[in-house]
Amino acid sequence: MQPDEISPRAREIHSSSLVFDTHTDTPQRLLFDRFDLAKRDAEGCVDIPRLREGGVGAVFFALWVPVEIKGEAATRRALDLLDATIRETRIHGDELALCASCAEIEAARAAGKIAICLGVEGGHAIQSDLSLLREFYAYGVRYMTLTHNAATEWADSSNAAPLHNGLTEFGREVIREMNRLGIMVDVSHVSDATFDAVLETSQAPVIASHSCCRALCDAPRNLDDAMIKRLAAGGGVIHITFHNSFLSQEYANAYRALTVESTARQKDLVQKYGPNEARILMEGQQWSNESIREGKLPQVSWEKIVEHIDHAVAVAGPDHVGIGSDFDGAFMPQGMEDASRLPWITEGLVRRRYGDGDIHKILGQNTIRVMAEVERISKRLS
Ligand SMILES: [Zn+2]
Repeated sequence: MQPDEISPRAREIHSSSLVFDTHTDTPQRLLFDRFDLAKRDAEGCVDIPRLREGGVGAVFFALWVPVEIKGEAATRRALDLLDATIRETRIHGDELALCASCAEIEAARAAGKIAICLGVEGGHAIQSDLSLLREFYAYGVRYMTLTHNAATEWADSSNAAPLHNGLTEFGREVIREMNRLGIMVDVSHVSDATFDAVLETSQAPVIASHSCCRALCDAPRNLDDAMIKRLAAGGGVIHITFHNSFLSQEYANAYRALTVESTARQKDLVQKYGPNEARILMEGQQWSNESIREGKLPQVSWEKIVEHIDHAVAVAGPDHVGIGSDFDGAFMPQGMEDASRLPWITEGLVRRRYGDGDIHKILGQNTIRVMAEVERISKRLS
């Protein structure tokens, strides 16, 4: 039996690390609920008190655009989420700093502030228009997840029938322009063929901002070992995500068996809350927890996250693994309910006899290395 507390060594490693979470869905709470990040909330996963407790130094806020939103409305949604994030970061400027470069993250850290970075999730936000990509860059967006759960006009998704056999010629242009600007290419959510086309096209290392290992949980959203190796060979990083359905095969199977119930529930929530994705996600998490209590879904432990990290490290080495929680956007495992619980990942790695240096890399240094490399390549290409 392991003691149910964090060891002094894990505390020491964690507090001296830059902890960098590459994916949270918090902007929806800011936009739809006018959520105040300074207040420690009973629901959701992210606010300033819990980021502080979790020792988070930098975090990407995802500007997620649901695939049902199309055309100009998709761009508008991303901009509204961006605006809400900028507003909230300004209000709490003594605690938070909006950052668009490694140098800015370093400066925020030196000033004792949490770095907030911006990523677009869903390439339909640029409407097949490179000038919009350049606008998002100008606003500080530093990664783009190419698709969500449906194909865009130029890239296929892992969760829908393929339309383009990977990337269209324009899709390849998008990748080249992201390289030139200095926006990280995020392959979470894309199809395997798109993944291959991206790795073929990108001159810069690529990230998966929130994905797990298919060898441990066979979901199309996860990466198989060959993909993890290929990502690493290009200098990229897989950021292990915390969503129960991507961590645990048992949970994923049981969830699939509840498809009728969960689809009906989703429809009810959309009726009740309209476009308020924040409420829909908050209540989704409650539904998952209730279903676990009722025995309809299995309990998933936070230790699964460490298992996936350990597997990815075994496949690709410690230089190519990071963390991308999907806090405020997914169903969290027991023991990783919110950002305050992040030191448990360090504890889990210490228990698995990881050295200090490798833990620092996994918690955030690998992500900073990729960002720096993307900046360097952008300067060369511009
Ligand atoms: Zn996602």
